[in-house]
Amino acid sequence: MATGKINVSVDNIFPLIKKFLYSDHEIFLRELISNATDATIKLNHLTSIGEAKVEYDNPMIEVKVDKEGKKLHIIDPGLGMTEEEVKKYINDIAFSGAEEFLDKYKDADKDAGIIGHFGLGFYSSFMVAEKVEIISKSYKDEPAIHWSCDGSPKFTLKKGKKEDHGTEIILHIAEDSTEFLEENRISELLNKYNKFMPIPIKFGTKTETLPKPEGAKDEEPAPTKEVDNIINNPNPAWTKQPTELKDEDYKSFYRELYPMQFEEPLFNIHLNVDYPFNLTGILYFPKLGNDLNMQKDRIQLFQNQVFVTDNVEGIVPEFLTMLRGVIDSPDIPLNVSRSYLQADGAVKKISSYITRKVADKLSSLFKNNREDFESKWNDIKIVIEYGMLSEDKFFEKSDKFALYPTVDGEFFTFEELQEKIKDNQTDKDEKLVVLYASDKEGQHSYIEAAKAKGYQVLLMDSPIISHLMQKLETSKEKLSFARVDADHLDNLIKKEDTQISKLSDEEKEKLKTNLEEVITDKGYTIQMEAMDSNASPFIITEPEFMRRMKEMQQSGGGGGMFGMGNMPEMYNLIVNTNHELVGEILNTKTSKKRERLINQSLDLARLSKGLLKGEELTNFIKRSYEMVK
Ligand code: ADP
Ligand code: MG
Repeated sequence: MATGKINVSVDNIFPLIKKFLYSDHEIFLRELISNATDATIKLNHLTSIGEAKVEYDNPMIEVKVDKEGKKLHIIDPGLGMTEEEVKKYINDIAFSGAEEFLDKYKDADKDAGIIGHFGLGFYSSFMVAEKVEIISKSYKDEPAIHWSCDGSPKFTLKKGKKEDHGTEIILHIAEDSTEFLEENRISELLNKYNKFMPIPIKFGTKTETLPKPEGAKDEEPAPTKEVDNIINNPNPAWTKQPTELKDEDYKSFYRELYPMQFEEPLFNIHLNVDYPFNLTGILYFPKLGNDLNMQKDRIQLFQNQVFVTDNVEGIVPEFLTMLRGVIDSPDIPLNVSRSYLQADGAVKKISSYITRKVADKLSSLFKNNREDFESKWNDIKIVIEYGMLSEDKFFEKSDKFALYPTVDGEFFTFEELQEKIKDNQTDKDEKLVVLYASDKEGQHSYIEAAKAKGYQVLLMDSPIISHLMQKLETSKEKLSFARVDADHLDNLIKKEDTQISKLSDEEKEKLKTNLEEVITDKGYTIQMEAMDSNASPFIITEPEFMRRMKEMQQSGGGGGMFGMGNMPEMYNLIVNTNHELVGEILNTKTSKKRERLINQSLDLARLSKGLLKGEELTNFIKRSYEMVK
């Protein structure tokens, strides 16, 4: 038997490893299974090129828990290691790798996220084991070896007993890590990290029910048999070519990824490039609706089918983190912090590739089946709008497929919309005014008034829409958006021909005084307008700019600098001086009646804006009954 001392500068690096990676102990299993998989694939390769002459049928990696013996075994049928190789790869290289790792990240921010996912490799097993043994036999004609180490830099190396090529790693689980002797815990880890690894992994057995033999009686139980419990799918959908997959295959892979998710995805995007970087994956658009706060972190990142993380921030553009699915790329550096990741050239390219693929897919869906695309719009718009806001490239491309729905359920692209409304909705300054509503029911009377003038009204109800309108206004020329209740219509779309007022300036002054006497403390700014005599006498409006800034601040970002999030709502009261009722208010002799007319009209205006509530509403209803009596 040989003993030796591993050549490291730190006397005992294991306590350090343990301390440093305290939150990520569980990754040891992923690391050991990765090594087992690598060794098996390497041997496969050597056999295929005739370098190795060994039996190589249906290789399988096995994980075994020995609870009584407090041991965990990882066994692979891979290429194994000779004595020389153990000295080189385990004693020297793996150790120096561990040391280098510590050196580099001793002072690093422990919360830096992805750093914790950086594999320490073989030595991560010392995070959970007080002693580790390797029994290995190389595919080369050399005796088996038995290496063992208790966590100090001393190790022993002797001849081992092993007939077949491959490696068995035995972890003597430490007192503080006995959770890794629980089958459930190991199952959980295998399912998390190894679910799609390329070599089958066996963990115990399971009982399979066989079909009943012909003529069996009903009460007879179906026969069963014990079979290997293979925990992984070695050929997940994303590793296949898109041409090999049908729609159903994508859907069933989605169910495999999210077994608890009952809703089907709307569509998927298959990612597949090998130059200038290597990336495969499948992204799914789930039904998103209007909820911005829906759960992110659903995209899983793999490297060569080994799960790394479900936090893809910095790799996938932010707006796409609402999607689901997998991406697999060996080219994403994982041993770096998030901020470094975002500055990394390769990662930038990956991110823009993904954005482009998503845009191309949306554009082809739109082209190939517009009706279907329209029917899905409300469930996907939030991603698209978010993307338009945050990625300029995506904004440009989105012109082809971004839709603007009307309150009547028609969908226009921006170009179509422009064409449709330019004659009627261009104001005297040549500006195209797009009218919209955010709540079809709540703004009904305003919508109807706009429609009566032949205007199109869009329904823009997503939570970030105010930001998007702001962006559209600044990037397209001579364009403005106005909510239907932002002002009186003739002010929203100012045309040359102004209405002539039935009232003289003097009468207007008098009317204003009358109104102000009654409407004292409600904070309305009164605005006299000569409008169509058929338009409402009183209209409450909410100026676009202030409202939009406020909304923008509430949904985060722009507008915040004005600190408007806490400002009270601002309302204007527009009085139609051409309306008969307004004339009556002016001409009423008794102040009592005038007051009643004003209050009743104001309440009606507030009612159609949805502002009349509580006690005021009760009083209004009471008063109205009195009047109809
Ligand atoms: P890495 O996998 O990044 O090379 P590790 O520390 O995980 O680093 O492993 C160090 C080396 O030890 C591997 O490169 C490999 O040569 C050898 N090794 C580890 N596990 C096995 C195994 N199960 N079979 C054969 N060789 C192995
Ligand atoms: Mg490794």
